Amino acid sequence: KTTGRDTYRRFEPALAARHSARHLLTFDMKDAIRRGDFHLVYQPVIDLAAETVTSFEALMRWRHPERGLISPMEFIPVAEETGLIVALGAWALAEACREATAWPDEIRVAVNVSTVQFQHDLERSVSSALDGAGLSADRLKLEVTESALMRDPERVVATLHRLRALGVRIALDDFGTGYSSLSYLRRFPFDKIKIDRTFIKDIAEPDAAAIVRAVVGLGERLGMSIVAEGVETAEQLDLVRSEGCDEVQGFLFSRPLPASEVQAFLRSRRASAAA
Ligand code: C2E
Ligand code: MG
Ligand code: MG
Ligand code: MG
Repeated sequence: KTTGRDTYRRFEPALAARHSARHLLTFDMKDAIRRGDFHLVYQPVIDLAAETVTSFEALMRWRHPERGLISPMEFIPVAEETGLIVALGAWALAEACREATAWPDEIRVAVNVSTVQFQHDLERSVSSALDGAGLSADRLKLEVTESALMRDPERVVATLHRLRALGVRIALDDFGTGYSSLSYLRRFPFDKIKIDRTFIKDIAEPDAAAIVRAVVGLGERLGMSIVAEGVETAEQLDLVRSEGCDEVQGFLFSRPLPASEVQAFLRSRRASAAA
């Protein structure tokens, strides 16, 4: 009993504080969508063979009037719990498609989509984002995580097939961190697998390297290209290249950039390639 009460006393205030912080965040988020306090930053994805930029991943940022910049790791889970992700996700799709129209035609844009969006007419959000921006569907890529596949897989498979029929590409994000059932790779129509940063961080170790190699092998057999996430060092780059990854993304090449810097980044890459 004593222990029980101690435990209760120790945890209750923290829990209450967390609940009210979430409550505040939810309240602020509704306002923020209206006010336009969210924006997207873009991180380049590089093809290893050609050494060219293939696409940019759109990543959401929230500039809070009092708290400053809040990480998506903090606000996306709250947005998912409260259902606000449906509006926020539709906004991100529309904004990313609109901003990508300014880029060269061969450069695609990747947008992260959350599980909850699949239950709320993702196809319509995608179509209206593409139509609204006048962006061709084959320039859009969606990144989904394993958690999106677990709930109502039949419906998700059907949705992904219809999106692909439009020309939209699909990537499986954070591979290796979720339940990673290999059957997902057979059942769902992915164009790409993104190997999670945790494996790339440890790629100098034999067991992490073995996992990367196995995923590359699977990708080759299944016709899916492999992206290494979170490449930070030249050593990691050499290793992901020798393990056979197709594309890389990470701070070694660039941090996520404001939309206004995307074109300059592409120009400077071209200039250094030509030199
Ligand atoms: P993610 O989709 O796996 O995105 C990659 C994350 O890794 C980004 O974090 C990126 O800034 C970070 N990253 C990239 N390269 C490196 C590196 O070399 N080292 C390190 N340490 N980190 C690197 P970010 O922007 O904080 O986003 C975190 C997560 O939040 C994303 O993971 C994604 O799951 C979610 N997220 C972000 N934007 C959206 C969005 O618009 N919609 C949804 N549903 N989720 C989003
Ligand atoms: Mg992603
Ligand atoms: Mg990822
Ligand atoms: Mg992640």
